[in-house]
Amino acid sequence: MAGPRVTVLGSLNTDISVPVPHLPGPGETVLATAAANIGTGGKGANQAVAAARLGASTRMVGCCGDDEFGGRLRDALVAEGIDVAGLRPVPGATSGLALITVDPAGENVIAVAPGANGLAGEQEVAAAFGAPCDVLVLSAEIPVAVLAAALRRASAGGWKGDGGAVARGGERRVRTVLNLAPVPEGADLLLAARPAWLVVNAHEAGVLAGAEAADAARALAMAVRLAAGETGPGAGTDPLTDPGSGAGPGGRHVVITLGAAGAVLAGPALAATIGGFSVPAVDTVGAGDAFVGALAVALARGLGPAEAVRAACAAGATATTRRGAQDGLPRPADVLAATGFRWPEISG
Ligand code: ADP
Repeated sequence: MAGPRVTVLGSLNTDISVPVPHLPGPGETVLATAAANIGTGGKGANQAVAAARLGASTRMVGCCGDDEFGGRLRDALVAEGIDVAGLRPVPGATSGLALITVDPAGENVIAVAPGANGLAGEQEVAAAFGAPCDVLVLSAEIPVAVLAAALRRASAGGWKGDGGAVARGGERRVRTVLNLAPVPEGADLLLAARPAWLVVNAHEAGVLAGAEAADAARALAMAVRLAAGETGPGAGTDPLTDPGSGAGPGGRHVVITLGAAGAVLAGPALAATIGGFSVPAVDTVGAGDAFVGALAVALARGLGPAEAVRAACAAGATATTRRGAQDGLPRPADVLAATGFRWPEISG
């Protein structure tokens, strides 16, 4: 049997990071304490690298500029063994760029120019479905219309619950994992298009639900309501006084990640808290992307929902033990060393 196949439709950025003694105020120029670090990033690309390192045969679909940065972004993915046939250099466009200043305490100020990521369109939707995959990751730093079109296309292919990708009338059903980081305008449209899985962190869940996911119990109540198709302020109602309507049949799976505390998971047949792994965290940048990439691989490998979220928590925790966004993304041996969790091997 072939290994798990993951396609990521999302963003690519160059991250230019400058260490400064203090964050500059308006009009101020601050001299860096060391050379700038130029790295490859963007949530989509990070998630693709995470999936590839954890054993999936991975395709990246998205847009970059036809500039020098675009070439570097492509090369970095190729070096990870990722298929970049669906990566489109847009003539005349500038590649996505994140300008990051970081102070000695790790506090940062970031400005992102989406550039070519904002030009993703129909071609990328077609490319995402241009080759079969088990799990399609849709990550939110590209236009909402593109994500919505991809979700529509996935359901038109006959998406059915948790069954994974199966052939029906020659068309493949694809399991979609939608990561709303950050939550875009029009997120309701995306939720209405019924992604099989929705992954958000506590802050993003708060934006979707109109309330704070202040602790695991409240986050779980929110996940249950989001899984049942509810958004807006009611989705964050106090679970102690209002148990909510529960995830209805046919509801999606919703994961809310909770940093060191792990994650909560709600779906048609379950509501669970998945505890975090205790690790010596040094840099939490990239934890969410490691989580999403890992979840996609675990689902594509056929793990059950709770098992897959636990595997994703192990990968997310491992990412925090290493510095950098893409640099910190783990391989199975790293996950084992950091957490004791044995990443499911690819069966031959
Ligand atoms: P994001 O990076 O998107 O804000 P989180 O901070 O919730 O997302 O982290 C994603 C996942 O990474 C968590 O669900 C958890 O499994 C893991 N993780 C993050 N921070 C830590 C930490 N300090 N210790 C252990 N695991 C962590």
